[in-house]
Amino acid sequence: MRLLLATTNRHKAREIAAILAPYGIEVEVPPSLPPVVEDGDTFEANAYKKAVSAARATGRPAAADDSGLAVAALGGAPGVHSARYAGDGATDEANTAKLLAEVARRGLVDPAAAFVCHAVVVAPDGGVVARAEARVEGVVRGPPRGGNGFGYDPVFHLVSARYPAPGVRFAELPPEEKDAISHRGQAFRALAAALVPGRRP
Ligand code: IMP
Repeated sequence: MRLLLATTNRHKAREIAAILAPYGIEVEVPPSLPPVVEDGDTFEANAYKKAVSAARATGRPAAADDSGLAVAALGGAPGVHSARYAGDGATDEANTAKLLAEVARRGLVDPAAAFVCHAVVVAPDGGVVARAEARVEGVVRGPPRGGNGFGYDPVFHLVSARYPAPGVRFAELPPEEKDAISHRGQAFRALAAALVPGRRP
């Protein structure tokens, strides 16, 4: 099946296409989308806004995700403001530098952080076809390391059974390894299971 994906973020589009391909879902990103003001207080609200806007504009069901990094010691920031933490149009590098500066200013060391992704598919009438939310836990650690991924990946540090101490930054993982554990990977695999029940990757 083909699925319209409402995003202007090429990194997200590439990740989502790779995550959904094993389910036989081919992602289609429209060349242009109506602008959406992402002023919701939650990832869920903003994901819905993006998806319903694209679904109404095209007359087809549309998928969208809203995602970000939540640092508990910063009151959940940057959270829904992740893309514009250092200001409107901020680069990934500027957002990451601001995050490290806020962490240092408070004297925090390796503060706990979670990437969160809310994924939704909405029909042109506004009805939710499927939705899923997922998170992956780690810590914020500088300096930035690794050349893969995007956004805050160079400062998101993970220690786990698969990545034992000293652990690894998300940006050091090959794309398929990030997708296997990421917030986006988990959320879109759950979405795929709802869209194509019975289909195994
Ligand atoms: P959105 O496009 O409004 O959902 O904003 C997402 C923002 O959250 C991105 O611009 C990144 O700053 C951050 N973010 C979301 N997912 C990831 C990820 O997988 N890696 C790194 N940063 C991410």
